[in-house]
Amino acid sequence: MGDDEGSIELHFVDDVIPGYWWIFPVQKGMVNVGIGMVISEQRKQTGVKKSLRKLQHQLINEHPLFKERFADATMVKGSGKGWQLPFGSPRKKQKLQPRRTAMAGAMCVGDSASLVDPFSGEGVGNALLSAKLAVSLFDQSKHSEGFPEEMANEYMSKLWEALGPELSNSFKIQKIVKRKRLMNMFVRKAAKRPALQDALTDALASKEAQKKLHSPLWLIRNIIL
Ligand SMILES: Cc1cc2nc3c(=O)[nH]c(=O)nc-3n(C[C@H](O)[C@H](O)[C@H](O)COP(=O)(O)OP(=O)(O)OC[C@H]3O[C@@H](n4cnc5c(N)ncnc54)[C@H](O)[C@@H]3O)c2cc1C
Repeated sequence: MGDDEGSIELHFVDDVIPGYWWIFPVQKGMVNVGIGMVISEQRKQTGVKKSLRKLQHQLINEHPLFKERFADATMVKGSGKGWQLPFGSPRKKQKLQPRRTAMAGAMCVGDSASLVDPFSGEGVGNALLSAKLAVSLFDQSKHSEGFPEEMANEYMSKLWEALGPELSNSFKIQKIVKRKRLMNMFVRKAAKRPALQDALTDALASKEAQKKLHSPLWLIRNIIL
């Protein structure tokens, strides 16, 4: 990675699995460095691993792969913040997916409706889509006395119809990435196969690439054969 915007390094290192650590340039001489992990997984970890902030500090200062690269780096004042992303992972045995997002008198959009992609961490696209749907169902004059429950139910079913397949797929990919042996096998193969390298990086930004990663046939063809 140089100074070019658009480049990104994603590191799947032992201490951060299941999760990943990223570095990407934001301007010449300045990079965004961050670490992400599913909260339920983070809670299973012990010691220093409990805090992602501490874990990142350790990686930057002590990890043999990174400490030299960060030897002369200084942290931008006021940076180093954390946030929880409300993932749209399907909830087990719940009728309303990913959770209740509307009721008589109210509709939630974007993060408030828990629509962040559980693999890529992207939420802007789904936030816009949910807002568009909410606006299409709300009629200022018809609903001047209150937004009815039937419309709220319609919003929830249309929202899951539009986003459910993608969110469910991403949740499954998140589970695959968690399995270290499978990831190692994948990355070893990817070192020799550009198609696999592209699939892995594209999967963070493209829904089509994510579908590939979850096709058993595609995986067998590219990893096992
Ligand atoms: C570090 C980080 C990196 C991310 N990177 C990406 C990315 O690369 N791509 C991507 O697609 N998504 C990314 N996301 C997720 C994305 O930012 C969110 O999913 C998206 O912004 C959700 O949009 P939203 O409108 O629902 O909520 P928000 O963008 O959070 O907007 C809510 C707004 O409401 C305001 N607000 C809160 N309370 C009140 C109140 N009481 N009164 C008035 N206003 C209030 C807030 O100040 C805020 O401006 C990232 C998130 C984080 C934290």
